[in-house]
Amino acid sequence: MKKENIKVLISEEEVDRKIREMGEKISREYAGREIHMICVLKGGVFFMTELAKRISVPVSMDFMAVSSYEGTQSTSKVKIIKDLDESVEGKDVLVVEDIVDTGRTLSVLLDMFRQRGASSVKLCTLLDKPDGRVTDIQVDHACFKVPDKFVVGYGLDYNQKYRNLPYIGVIEFEEV
Ligand code: 5GP
Repeated sequence: MKKENIKVLISEEEVDRKIREMGEKISREYAGREIHMICVLKGGVFFMTELAKRISVPVSMDFMAVSSYEGTQSTSKVKIIKDLDESVEGKDVLVVEDIVDTGRTLSVLLDMFRQRGASSVKLCTLLDKPDGRVTDIQVDHACFKVPDKFVVGYGLDYNQKYRNLPYIGVIEFEEV
């Protein structure tokens, strides 16, 4: 049998501090405007709510659910499970993600929001895994770069577990 051990990669304090800094940076960038934050469920929700609390310009929020991952293997298909409630037309959209790996999910979504008439579409991710990239997607803001390992915590799951960890960890499997 295999036991799952979680090794801390980025501590709770580091994550909190970085999100606070990111909120200040984004507030400066959007000064005098409103931000329409779009969260990709479920992973992005922890980051989105913490980030929103650190942004000082007006924000509105919407949520979308897509599926692109099974276990630890990334698949190329993006399926919309829950679409947005509101139109993005004429809005400054900031897509908030947990992690950008291959970039396949996001490149489809960002193009879709542009086609739906958003004034601007930018991407802010908690984690960026640049080694996994197979698209030329532009990551406008990333809190942390992570190595090409399967990470969990702060919204990121392993078979729906570990989303509630307040830090970012790497799973190690131990034979018992
Ligand atoms: P991409 O389309 O960029 O390959 O994948 C994005 C999605 O894959 C993320 O939103 C996340 O759900 C999942 N994903 C990619 N890398 C990891 C990882 O290291 N850990 C977890 N838990 N999910 C990941």
